[in-house]
Amino acid sequence: MNNETLLKNLRNVPDFPIPGIQFKDVSTLFKNAECLRLMVDELYDIYKDKGITKVVGIESRGFVVGAALAVKLGAGFVMCRKPGKLPAETRKETYMKEYGKDTIEIHTDAITDDDVVLLHDDLLATGGSMKAAYNLVQQFNPRKVYINFLIELTIEGLNGRSVFAPDVEISTLMKI
Ligand code: AMP
Repeated sequence: MNNETLLKNLRNVPDFPIPGIQFKDVSTLFKNAECLRLMVDELYDIYKDKGITKVVGIESRGFVVGAALAVKLGAGFVMCRKPGKLPAETRKETYMKEYGKDTIEIHTDAITDDDVVLLHDDLLATGGSMKAAYNLVQQFNPRKVYINFLIELTIEGLNGRSVFAPDVEISTLMKI
């Protein structure tokens, strides 16, 4: 799926946060009422019959559409956050980044083995951060885990999908 309205309204910021990066700024999609509704409606169409019980959003750009979609799906919303932000007991997953390590956390009581989970983030680049979130959610042994990104970057030979097993169901609204 490649929605022209979304692509037209997405802002590209060159050299942010460091020289050479073309930053896809989804804030211009979030602030636009038509785009915000389009994203939630398109995702609802994809997932409405999947029995999703929890949408897990990745901090922080995954919280916006993720929470709105959860309301429309009649699902709960779970925050996947950076270390030290969640107040109660958490499960953690540590993963390698380009420079050093990073950790993400979810509350221990946020997901059960009865849940059907949709993991959501704004953008797929190398896939490293979503793979860590996927591994973290799998620790809860849910019935099924789906993955969605608003944007899939395929430029510069990026193939973030390749870090997931072929049977993992991944959807994206825009490919760039
Ligand atoms: P990755 O783990 O490499 O797939 O990177 C994905 C995460 O980094 C997402 O949470 C994105 O928000 C952010 N990110 C990576 N590259 C970009 C980019 N070019 N524009 C906007 N966000 C990006």
